[in-house]
Amino acid sequence: MQILDGKLVSKAIKDQIAVQVAELKAQGKKIPHLAAILVGNDGASETYVASKVKSCAEIGYNSTLLRFDSQISEKHLLDNINMLNENPDIDGILVQLPLPKHINEELVINTIDPSKDVDGFHPMNVGKMVSGLPTFIPATPYGIMLMLEHYNIDTKGKHAVVIGRSHIVGTPMSILLSRNSNPGNCTVTLTHSHTKNLKELCLQADIVVAAIGKPEFVTADMVKEGAIVIDVGINRIPDASKKSGFRLVGDVKFDEVSPRSSYITPVPGGVGPMTIAALLKNTYHAAIGQKGNQN
Ligand code: NAP
Repeated sequence: MQILDGKLVSKAIKDQIAVQVAELKAQGKKIPHLAAILVGNDGASETYVASKVKSCAEIGYNSTLLRFDSQISEKHLLDNINMLNENPDIDGILVQLPLPKHINEELVINTIDPSKDVDGFHPMNVGKMVSGLPTFIPATPYGIMLMLEHYNIDTKGKHAVVIGRSHIVGTPMSILLSRNSNPGNCTVTLTHSHTKNLKELCLQADIVVAAIGKPEFVTADMVKEGAIVIDVGINRIPDASKKSGFRLVGDVKFDEVSPRSSYITPVPGGVGPMTIAALLKNTYHAAIGQKGNQN
């Protein structure tokens, strides 16, 4: 069993981007600038946005964080996105999800200029991804592809079972893995809460991608010996021994699944850091006006 070390791989990617940013600087060119919007005070969202902003600083990007109260009106939020759209200094815009219930998430995503949509959620970018055209690929599945690529994992002809069909993880993951590319060329089964015989399907999988949002949902009896296991889940569970009062676990029961797997991502330190690395790559491409970041 080998751990797929997201911290290590993301650091390698960040180091590489830092060199490219230094080159832009030396040539007097524009430095990539990411704008992040955070609405409300959700603890997990705060943490995610903080690490995205921190990573920008580490590699030499400029970043702007716009924070709004959870009571912000939809119009005020959209006005701010439009301001960022029109600001030539801003290359990438991300709106941390989820948003408060009174705000229409779809409308917010549709308002972001597709050429600055570094999360790759705008329908125009989703359409391009499905069509196999160069575009911004949603950061989490893109990060997973970068991880598979880094470890030189041969996915060709393998059966991948993706658990969860969200627009941000499961669905784009199933598309990327089924593409005629490397990594890719998998036979993909996309599963969800209405899937029958999930356990039997998982037992046939050479690759399991768990993106469910349920702590330790995938157990050893669901995983074939030698499978590659990608755990996307980030779940907070109460832990009195921690100062924060919680600890993070994935969607996979790591202790019992890892001995059966050939490769596995830990939580934390697996897919999470890769998501940030992929976001930074998308932002770099946005800044240089090139969306050639397909896998
Ligand atoms: P989501 O939008 O809540 O989607 C969860 C998916 O899981 C849904 O498609 C749902 O099916 C499916 N599901 C729920 N119960 C199931 C069951 N019993 N059997 C099979 N499928 C089931 O979640 P998400 O946004 O994709 O996130 C998933 C997890 O990944 C969360 O823990 C989240 O925090 C984490 N995440 C991590 C990163 C990262 O950077 N590492 C990034 C994004 C998300 P239905 O469609 O039928 O409801």
